[in-house]
Amino acid sequence: MLRRGGCLCGNIRYSVSQDPRVHYCHCEMCRRSTGSAFAVLCWVGRSALRWEGQAPSFRRSSPLARRGFCRRCGTPLALDYDGSAEIALHGGTFDEPNSFRPAYNYGADRRLDWVCAGIGLPEHAIMERW
Ligand SMILES: [Zn+2]
Ligand SMILES: [Zn+2]
Repeated sequence: MLRRGGCLCGNIRYSVSQDPRVHYCHCEMCRRSTGSAFAVLCWVGRSALRWEGQAPSFRRSSPLARRGFCRRCGTPLALDYDGSAEIALHGGTFDEPNSFRPAYNYGADRRLDWVCAGIGLPEHAIMERW
């Protein structure tokens, strides 16, 4: 199944040719970089993702990773770890986000008190250290 998505202004579009591995991330960096209470990260193999039209701009968000966004409208689109075979897209940027389900929580100990999403799903602690 081919899934498509893009940013708010339509400047950046993508297609994904693989079922994403989807999870909630409650870490502070995802919270701040999305401006939301948590991120929904959708991981796919790098070769399964095709940027159509404009590619996103990337900025370094930690010594380990870059974050991709639309330079025109500011929509956060991607999380890209150095040297990883996978790249994560933000779930809300898919055209049909109901076509997948988050399967687990990452950084569950940081989940905000008033966030109900992901309760009852498996929980993993944050592994990144630098
Ligand atoms: Zn845009
Ligand atoms: Zn995160």
